[in-house]
Amino acid sequence: MSDKTVKLNNPHLETARSDYLYHLDINVANTRDTSELQNRFGDVRVICMGGTGSRMRQLALHLRHILVVPESGDPVDLCERGNRYAMYKVGPVLCVSHGIGSSSFSVVLHELIKLLKYARCQDPVLLRIGTCGGLGVPPGTVVATKNAFNGLLRNEHEIAILGQRVVRPAQFSEDVIRDIIAFGVDANDGFQTISANTMGTDCFYEGQGRTDGAICEYSEKDKMEFLQKCYDLGIRNIEMEASMFASVTQKVGVKAGDVCVTLIDRLKGDQVTITIDQKHEFEQRPFFVVGRYIKRLLQQ
Ligand code: URA
Repeated sequence: MSDKTVKLNNPHLETARSDYLYHLDINVANTRDTSELQNRFGDVRVICMGGTGSRMRQLALHLRHILVVPESGDPVDLCERGNRYAMYKVGPVLCVSHGIGSSSFSVVLHELIKLLKYARCQDPVLLRIGTCGGLGVPPGTVVATKNAFNGLLRNEHEIAILGQRVVRPAQFSEDVIRDIIAFGVDANDGFQTISANTMGTDCFYEGQGRTDGAICEYSEKDKMEFLQKCYDLGIRNIEMEASMFASVTQKVGVKAGDVCVTLIDRLKGDQVTITIDQKHEFEQRPFFVVGRYIKRLLQQ
């Protein structure tokens, strides 16, 4: 079998004897012998990540059902002691919470990618399953990200490293996007799933052109011009993680995709006004799409 394990982009780790995945509370006591981690996590083929622990628990229950994983009882949070992120394992799938925004997400993303490496997982796929604002699409539309733009409307991710601005490309894996649409969508879904560009911002309010934050120094007209510019770039949804997620996974060469449901059409307003029941129903939609995609992936 060819080696399809994760290759990290960090020469320092090649000489590190141990590594503590602090936020996951997973200790790699001996990086030269990771057999215990391989036993626990070596079968992992997919990691699904989303904002909250409760949503990831629900996703774990959904996947248990559709992947026919013979487990019962309450899913166990494997990272409970870390007290930051929740992690559930359903057969070869991990469901992990990442909090709000790129900075929270990038912490757990780095540690999960290292976990994949230490556990010698083969050809893993990372998926974000989230909620977002929509642009010119009805609330409840599921969007699989094609290109990830940052808040500067560039198809890249920008990060300060050692006092310097570092800019990296932000592309998701074309085959993952293609397969999510090909195998995740069912004609009887009753909602639309599209593939389109996504803007990932560092702020829910000003960064997404809202006029209802604690600060706003632009007019409604400025806002609408900005949103129209986004629309003209093929952006159909706005969230807070896509460009970081695409750039980190692209940099280490791990396959990834971002699948989110829109809660609002930003061309029509700023405040999320759907009811809690509607929100819960919408949040299930990416579960169905991603669940079918994963089922198919595991059959290959
Ligand atoms: N999440 C976002 O980042 N923006 C929205 O408008 C809705 C959810």
